[in-house]
Formats: sequence, structure tokens, C-alpha cells
Amino acid sequence: MMYKEILIRYGELSTKGKNKKDFIARLRENIRYSFADLAPLKIRTERDRMFIETETEERLEQLMTRLPKIFGIQSFSAVASADKNMDAIKAVAHEIMAQYTDETTFKVEVKRTDKKFPMETHDIQRDLGGYLLTHLDQLSVDVKNPQVPLRVEIREDAAYLMAGVIKGAGGMPVGSNGKSLLMLSGGIDSPVAAYLMMKRGVRIEAVHFFSPPYTSQNSLQKVMDLTNICTQFGARIRLHIIPFTEIQTLIKDRVPANISMTTTRRMMMKVADQLREEIGALGIVTGESLGQVASQTLQSLTAINDVTSTPVLRPLLSYDKLEIIDIAEKIGTYETSILPYEDCCTIFTPSNPKTKPKLEKVEYYESFTEFDELIEKAIRNRETHVFPRKEAADKFADLL
Ligand code: ATP
Ligand code: MG
Repeated sequence: MMYKEILIRYGELSTKGKNKKDFIARLRENIRYSFADLAPLKIRTERDRMFIETETEERLEQLMTRLPKIFGIQSFSAVASADKNMDAIKAVAHEIMAQYTDETTFKVEVKRTDKKFPMETHDIQRDLGGYLLTHLDQLSVDVKNPQVPLRVEIREDAAYLMAGVIKGAGGMPVGSNGKSLLMLSGGIDSPVAAYLMMKRGVRIEAVHFFSPPYTSQNSLQKVMDLTNICTQFGARIRLHIIPFTEIQTLIKDRVPANISMTTTRRMMMKVADQLREEIGALGIVTGESLGQVASQTLQSLTAINDVTSTPVLRPLLSYDKLEIIDIAEKIGTYETSILPYEDCCTIFTPSNPKTKPKLEKVEYYESFTEFDELIEKAIRNRETHVFPRKEAADKFADLL
């Protein structure tokens, strides 16, 4: 097999020593994790690059399909290596370019990291380009927009050749920026919020509130499926399912209908915050987007936010719904999100929720009811699942 390795260029990388080391170690771990269902990868890291052995054609293909989803990778290429002399480089270049049997335009780009190599960049380019043109009739040169940019990197240990660069997911390796608790509904927004936070290197645990018998097993399954899809970006996710019926029923009984939505959100936030503390997460993530619905006006967010001083991260705050849908489609959560199962909020939603709830009023109406005990109980009675699950992981493998 010609391509013996995949070369990975790191994403947004702080130049500072320790951070850089952590970034690389984390990325390596996340790549290993996302191939955990297969035989262990052989990975070697360098200061500015990472190399993974391709071993077999099948493995090369698996790497090509999974790597574009892993955060912290700027770009990657399948590489062939050659000894550091022109004959060896020409032979490998010939082998690579001979694969293109139709008329193909190409260009040779040379990067010479090893300054001791006896030829200048420009001379290597001309010599190699001329050699390929004389030996392979189907090739012609296009320096501006070649179909195959053949890149040759002359490094200390060997010459590396590659026929193009594939764009990575960018961002930072999941886990390099701490952990936050995601409030995950079955809707379109919160999985997208998860994706965006993971892209910034934040590890996610998720919490979901469900209200049986008003919400069904189907709606729960949907949330589990969404969680599972979110694991493809390079990390395991723990999902906490909180029984919320008792609290919601109490809110409905005790608080005027038009502010019950605000109170429901406040109670969710309280539960989430206690759970966050228990699991050692630093922030809370939601899929809220400013002005999208009554509970997402600035006044509502103020009233909801008042129950905690924990940072509440809202990566979608300024996004339009259509922009969110675009991302949901791209990351593969949209189809699952739009399945028509009831959500605990929609069921209890009053017909006329206040769009500008006053915090003092909300606090006043809540003050007659003791919620804390029920909050404790709900957290105690949670169910926790870890994703990907074995059978879920297998199912997901087909999707890749
Ligand atoms: P989504 O598409 O994420 O459901 P939405 O537009 O339907 O968002 P809301 O239902 O108002 O908006 O929910 C706002 C945010 O509150 C969600 O993005 C999510 O973070 C959180 N949330 C709502 N319902 C639940 C729930 N049942 N469990 C956990 N978090 C929830
Ligand atoms: Mg929702």
C-alpha cells in the first residue's frame, strides 16, 4: 500500500508549552477513543504534527471517514514516504500520480524543512515536475488550480508525499477546556449547542427532564439517540435523566399559568445547577436563542438565570433558527430532532406565557411553595446512561 500514514495538522493551538502538550495528548486520546471499536491505532506525535499508521486499505478508509469529525484537527493528508534522495522521491511520486489514469492537471509543491537537503525547493519542484510530465502522458501542469496538488515535504527523517489536503473539523480537542452540563431537550437547538461547545474543547455531560406519563418512552429514546450522535465528535457523553413530573405538577397547581413557564425553567436550572456541582462541571449549556420563544426574551432569561451564579453558556444566543437548522443537518441531528414526540415543556406550556416576566412577581408566587425537597429527590432518582453504548455504537458505525 502506497499511503503508509495519515499526517495530521493540529487545529487552533496555543503556542504555550504546557497547553500545547495537553492539546496534543488530548487529541491523541480522543482519536484513540473514536476508534475504540477497532484494533488499536499506532499513533506517533511530533511537535507540530501527528502521524497515524494506516496499516490496511480498510483502515485508511475508516480514518478518512472518521477523522473529519474530530475537533482539534486543522487538516490531514494520507502520506507516502520516501528516502531523502531524488530517485526515491521520483519513484514514489510516480506511483501516486499513476493512479490518475484520466487527463489530470497537477502541480508540485515542495516544502523543505530539512535545510541540509542538497537541492533548493525550486529545483526539486522543476526536476520532479519535469520527470512526471515525461513519464505520465495524462498529466499536464496547472499552477493556479490543479486537480492534484502533489505536495512533497522534506523533513529530518524522510520525504513525505501527499496528493492533497483534507479539511478537518477545526476547533479544540474535546476535554481541553473543562466540562459543562448541557440541558438537552429533544429539540433542534440543544444538540447544536452541544456541538458548538464541544468544538471549543468543552467536554459535555447532558441532563434531560422528562415527565412520565405525559412524555413517552419514544421521546426519551429520541434524547438518547441525540446524545449518541453527539458522541461522534470525539468524546463519551453521560446522560442524566431527571424525573420531572412531580415538580411540574406542583408548579401547575401553585403558580399562575402565565408565569408557570418561567418557574419551570427556573426549577430546571436549579436542578441542573445542583447536578452540575455534583459531577464537577464548571458551566451549564443551553440551546437558548434570543427572542426565539416567550421563554427566551432577555427578560425571561434574566428571571431564569437568577437562580444561579454559575456561568450559563448559550452558544446559540445570536443564531437565527435557519442557521441552527443548517448546522443540525450538517451534524446529523436534524432528522432525529424533528421526530414528533412530545416534550415535557410543550405539554405543560400555558396558552399565554408572559414574554416579559418580572422577577419579583415570579419570586413572590414561588415563595408559597417548598420546591427544594422535590429538587433533591428528583436528582436522587435520576437515571444515568453512558454513550456510546455497545449496541448503539454498532448501529452508529453503519451511519459513518
Ligand atoms: P430545543 O430545540 O433545544 O428544544 P427550543 O427552541 O425548543 O430548544 P425551549 O424548549 O424553550 O427551546 O428550550 C430552551 C432550552 O432549554 C433548550 O435548548 C434546552 O437547553 C433546555 N431544555 C428545554 N427543555 C428541556 C428538557 N426537557 N430537558 C433538558 N433541557 C431542556
Ligand atoms: Mg424544546
